[in-house]
Amino acid sequence: MIPVRCLSCGKIIGDKWEDFERRTKAGDNPGKVLDDLGVDKYCCRRMLVSHCNLIDEFLQFEYPRKKE
Ligand SMILES: [Zn+2]
Repeated sequence: MIPVRCLSCGKIIGDKWEDFERRTKAGDNPGKVLDDLGVDKYCCRRMLVSHCNLIDEFLQFEYPRKKE
């Protein structure tokens, strides 16, 4: 899960992740996608470029919840 805001400047970038992921997986140039999404500062750009979705990996190690 990507942080909702850029850690350096506080700009909201959480809503850009799905678009960014979908378009880069489809083969678009990541730099151009970021320009299109209006992510112009390099602190915000690194948030999206360097993000790695690990939530599904972590969930394997969660204890199974007891059913009541
Ligand atoms: Zn930023």
